[in-house]
Amino acid sequence: MILRLLLGDQLNYEHSWYKEAVQDDVCYFMAEMRQETDYTKHHIQKVVGFFSSMRNFSSWLKEQGKQVVYYQLDHEKNKQDLVGNLEQIMKDNEITKFEYQLPDEYRLDMQLKEFCETLSIQFEVFDTEHFLTSRTDFANFFEGKKQYIMEYFYRDMRKKYDIMMLTKKDPEGGKWNFDHSNRKKWNGKPEIPSQKDFKKDVSKIVELIHDCEVSTIGNIDPKQFNWPTSRKECLSLLTYFCENLLVYFGDYQDAMHVEEKYLFHSRLSFAMNSKMLHPMEVITTVVEYWRDRQDEIDISQVEGFVRQILGWREYMRGMYWSQMPAYKNLNELQNTNKLPDFYWTANTKMNCLRSAIQQSLDDSYAHHIQRLMITGNYALLTMIDPDEVDQWYLGIYIDAIEWVEITNTRGMSQFADGGLVATKPYVSSGSYINKMSNYCKSCEYKVSKKHEDDACPFNALYWNFLDEKQGYFKNNQRMSMMLNLLHKMDKEKLHKLKTRANHIIANPDEY
Ligand SMILES: Cc1cc2nc3c(=O)[nH]c(=O)nc-3n(C[C@H](O)[C@H](O)[C@H](O)COP(=O)(O)OP(=O)(O)OC[C@H]3O[C@@H](n4cnc5c(N)ncnc54)[C@H](O)[C@@H]3O)c2cc1C
Ligand code: SF4
Repeated sequence: MILRLLLGDQLNYEHSWYKEAVQDDVCYFMAEMRQETDYTKHHIQKVVGFFSSMRNFSSWLKEQGKQVVYYQLDHEKNKQDLVGNLEQIMKDNEITKFEYQLPDEYRLDMQLKEFCETLSIQFEVFDTEHFLTSRTDFANFFEGKKQYIMEYFYRDMRKKYDIMMLTKKDPEGGKWNFDHSNRKKWNGKPEIPSQKDFKKDVSKIVELIHDCEVSTIGNIDPKQFNWPTSRKECLSLLTYFCENLLVYFGDYQDAMHVEEKYLFHSRLSFAMNSKMLHPMEVITTVVEYWRDRQDEIDISQVEGFVRQILGWREYMRGMYWSQMPAYKNLNELQNTNKLPDFYWTANTKMNCLRSAIQQSLDDSYAHHIQRLMITGNYALLTMIDPDEVDQWYLGIYIDAIEWVEITNTRGMSQFADGGLVATKPYVSSGSYINKMSNYCKSCEYKVSKKHEDDACPFNALYWNFLDEKQGYFKNNQRMSMMLNLLHKMDKEKLHKLKTRANHIIANPDEY
């Protein structure tokens, strides 16, 4: 009998394994395990999302006539760790060969490699057939180049997969990148279609998680679970995006709003990261939808979306595999502060942080700019230890899997990799937040004030950060304008800003 392992994020319905004729001597194994619920403290919706999707996948496999062994979290034989479970199954059954798909996380990759070294039977590793690049394509592409630049990687991917190309060399629309059109603030118009709801009853899974005393964060309404957990639901979310949101996706990609948490974002990251949707299927569906409606949907909306998936998503995965395991310990800016308690409660007077964190606790979701320019920006300005920042992002979002979480958090957002992902730190004062959102309008703090008691904390923190880290950034061309402004600043003003910043850093939960 061949034993085939399927991890919780390997729910690729289109994998070639399932296209084979039914074989009596193949058995699939899936398990809900404490090893996975406990490696960080996850949002309750994330645990439910994965368990529910795994169960649907296992039912589908059975419908295809496949043999499946599925351990729920409280299954009597569940040893709660991967190796323990595999050893037991191999002992209880006459397993002659072990097969698994390449894990996307380094820790699982190591665990399975080490496990296979102990085996006396044959084993074989297969591709997940999910990504558009191999683990090493990124390193090969950048070999000998001075710097990693996403734009070049993205252009190469467009050519390689012939996505939105006029000829082999020329992009459609005459430009590779329409990022400059993606900077609009949303002021109540255009109307945002009502969100796509799933509203499923997941009470049984929630009860199981509670009964097993799994420690989680965040909130859930067990009768109205709102994430797609089957292939059909994932496809319906994709269709919904094309028909309702794509038309303004690019324009309002960076916008934030107190009352609108999703704006025109797709919410497709969980569907893709669990592999229920293939990235190329998402890209081609969106591009084909646009192709038939070019008079209604501008190319900039579509290019912006394609770039996130064909570019950033593959780029982050490539970066991960080229840099792990060292990446996990990088802390180039030597930040050591503790993450404020309000990241777990949303109990802060700063309206932007309160909104973004409350939304994350309620929905296990925040869009990219909320993650980067609100919670990430504050963490970097207050010089939080990147280990703490990583743990928070890895736990709170339903789409958080280390390969894409750590590169975005430690790299893009916290500059802890010294600029491998980002060419300059993503930090801003309150004025950027005010420009892109309506948070400041209903905030206790005044975004226009600098160091007074009611001044926006981001303002003092921003100048303090530049002052503290100026030695590190002195040779970074992209920082020179801001550092010049810092050097020209009146000393007394800088002193006042720094005094306020230091008080905020020492007493974050007072603000
Ligand atoms: C600090 C920080 C942490 C993040 N952690 C994660 C994470 O754990 N998992 C995750 O999938 N994304 C992460 N991102 C990237 C991005 O924020 C999410 O992919 C996005 O918000 C998911 O929502 P959406 O599906 O509505 O995305 P949309 O805005 O609709 O974008 C479409 C798709 O593009 C892809 N995408 C967009 N930006 C990125 C990016 N920077 N890196 C990789 N893929 C991208 C996603 O697959 C996303 O579903 C993080 C970003 C930051 C700044
Ligand atoms: S004033 Fe400052 S703290 Fe308040 S919402 Fe605006 S940026 Fe955030």
